[in-house]
Amino acid sequence: MIDYHLHTSRCCHAEGSPAEYLAVAEEIGLPEIGFADHFPLGLLDYTPRVQVTMLPAELDDYLEEIENLKAASPLVRVKTGIEIDYLPGTEKKLEQLLTKYSFDYVIGSIHFLDGWDFTHPFYAESYKERDLEALYETYFELVWNACRSGYFDIIGHIDVIKKFGYRPQGAIDHYLQETARVLAETDTSFELNTAGRDAPVSEFYPDRRLLEAALAQGVTITVGSDAHGPGQVGRYFDKAEKLLREVGFRALATFTKRSRSLIPF
Ligand SMILES: [Zn+2]
Ligand SMILES: [Zn+2]
Repeated sequence: MIDYHLHTSRCCHAEGSPAEYLAVAEEIGLPEIGFADHFPLGLLDYTPRVQVTMLPAELDDYLEEIENLKAASPLVRVKTGIEIDYLPGTEKKLEQLLTKYSFDYVIGSIHFLDGWDFTHPFYAESYKERDLEALYETYFELVWNACRSGYFDIIGHIDVIKKFGYRPQGAIDHYLQETARVLAETDTSFELNTAGRDAPVSEFYPDRRLLEAALAQGVTITVGSDAHGPGQVGRYFDKAEKLLREVGFRALATFTKRSRSLIPF
């Protein structure tokens, strides 16, 4: 397994240095890891209600620290990733920024809906006042637009809208099927993100039905623990590997300088 979704203390809501995450990866025998800390929202001119990303001034240090770690890690391959919020209207800015920095891969994630940080426990009460049908529609439309933007190699925790266990009354299958179709059409990868098991919803992202639909359409997948502390590196990877095998995945997507290759597992 690979762990392509690691945070660091720079984002202000995680703990540990990259070297500490790497030490755990080595200990549990992962062949490859990638850091994907939160891209500075300030560079996208967005100010969240609480600080959840590194500051613009830290990005260069983040990149340098990981490059240094790459060179000093003979056992585990280390990749330089980043997790960037897909915020409609910031596409032009994002395009310019992406030419300035060298990443192995870019995870596109949605954490905000009209200024609501809907993945943050502080604001989870807000789900109670929402029309969940409309909310799911809005969320998945953003996911599809993120894919179509072409700026992201991987979509992060693709059905994270379920994080606190709120789901519409009606079926959601059409969202999952359409998401698989758009991933395939735009040749975007997605991830099996194991963090959801420790969230109120208590299941991986995404729903197994989306894994199945995506595989059927030839979509490629990465795996990530979304670790916000070194102790979470590779969390539930035994279960993740079993699930991926059951569904029928036999390869994982890896990235170098934003070019994808597949490794069997
Ligand atoms: Zn985070
Ligand atoms: Zn995220």
